[in-house]
Amino acid sequence: MANDSAKSCGLDPDNWKNFRAEAHRMLETSLDQLQQVAERPWQEVPEAVKESYAVEASGASAAEIVDRITDEVLPYHGGNIHPRFWGWVQGTGLASDLIAGMAGAVINANTGGRDHGANYMERAVIDWTRQKMDMPEGTSGVLVAGTSQATVIAFQAARVRVMPQVRKSGQGTTRLTAYAGQGIHNATRKALELLGIGFENLRLVPLIDGQMDLAALRAQIAKDRAAGAQPFLLVGMAGSVDLGTYDDLNGLADVAADEDLWLHVDGAFGAWTRIADDPWRGLSDGIGRADSIALDFHKWMYVGYDCGLVLIADEAAHRSAFAARPSYLEAAERGLAGGDPWFCDYGIDLSRGNRALKVWTALELYGEAALGAAITDNCRLAALMADEVTAHPNMRLAAPVVSNVCVFTARNDLAPEAQSLLNSEIAQILQESGEAVFSTTRADGLVMLRAAITNHRSRAEDIHEAIAAVARLAQAG
Ligand SMILES: *Cc1c(COP(=O)(O)O)cnc(C)c1O
Repeated sequence: MANDSAKSCGLDPDNWKNFRAEAHRMLETSLDQLQQVAERPWQEVPEAVKESYAVEASGASAAEIVDRITDEVLPYHGGNIHPRFWGWVQGTGLASDLIAGMAGAVINANTGGRDHGANYMERAVIDWTRQKMDMPEGTSGVLVAGTSQATVIAFQAARVRVMPQVRKSGQGTTRLTAYAGQGIHNATRKALELLGIGFENLRLVPLIDGQMDLAALRAQIAKDRAAGAQPFLLVGMAGSVDLGTYDDLNGLADVAADEDLWLHVDGAFGAWTRIADDPWRGLSDGIGRADSIALDFHKWMYVGYDCGLVLIADEAAHRSAFAARPSYLEAAERGLAGGDPWFCDYGIDLSRGNRALKVWTALELYGEAALGAAITDNCRLAALMADEVTAHPNMRLAAPVVSNVCVFTARNDLAPEAQSLLNSEIAQILQESGEAVFSTTRADGLVMLRAAITNHRSRAEDIHEAIAAVARLAQAG
């Protein structure tokens, strides 16, 4: 079919009336999706649909494209928008994203630098978050794709602080060592690999009751120093990926101060207990003493993908790890080239999108109290799930639930291998039936069912029905 926009005047619509009508139709269909989300769990993508994605690039009408997106795209989401999705650690997205997404699409801001509104809004979002995290005034930050990228940025700042020459001449033969508790997220290891520090130089310190053993940590640091290494970085967990546990962040800050280490906190989801009620808020006490924090808005602040943040207490250290302005990027006092400082001097990306708008829209629309209440509620639901698991004679928790993560086996009375098989099978069956999404993890040498509740749409009856479904399958198995 002939393409309106392929005509003489290029890519903008020739017929605005028609384009408006089709854009409104897309909005209505998107709103339907959102309102009926509970009836739309994950489903497998049929082969014919996968094939329909093949790019033809031959032009089509807006009406055709809206129809195709409605039929071929919207139904095949990743499940995380559904009220009974607790797999991995994934956020649900918010209705506010729809509003922010529309405005963001037409502004098309490049927030690498220069003088325009999106950059001022990003600074405001960063500063609000800094305050919630108890970080000092003057802390710098930059919104990024997620905690993985935030971690790379933080670690590079930590390294430049101890090796000011590293940007110029590389790391040479210096052996830097980093410390984290066992169970640290893979993002830490990956960042150390990317920076050329090497994962062998990440010391995994044993845990006691889910927290890094501080005596073992001090002993390992001393041993490494004696062997000629240069300890530079201590990584704390605020919400471990497997069990949702928290290091003693004040204890880590004391060790970091004594040993002159950079303290980084992986708070991808768990940092957000800062705005929850006690006792969960207390889990992240001490986080503000970190030199850097990596966290996500797209997990436990429910904002649509993608959006993470790195916060760095020492702005000068942050800037000196990344700033580099060739002549074509020189700043000016006035005009569009003003607006210093530019975000490109605080991270890897030069061109960057407008991630702040969706965060700002969510904060302004819902307010901190409602977001904090949703986080508190998720912790309560994890505790409820633990209670229901414990009430079933043959189910067993891997560990007590401390925040929003509940890990359990469905049939503790079976042999270990049979339990692993059954737990994996139950996860798959429930995913495919659309009843609930658990993921799996390994604990006590078993594959277990795991729920990480970062879902503002979940209610007590969702937990109840999901555990009942697990019990039903466990009995049949
Ligand atoms: C998800 C997660 C990460 C990685 O964050 P991304 O936003 O996926 O890059 C790191 N640490 C923890 C604890 C996580 O849960």
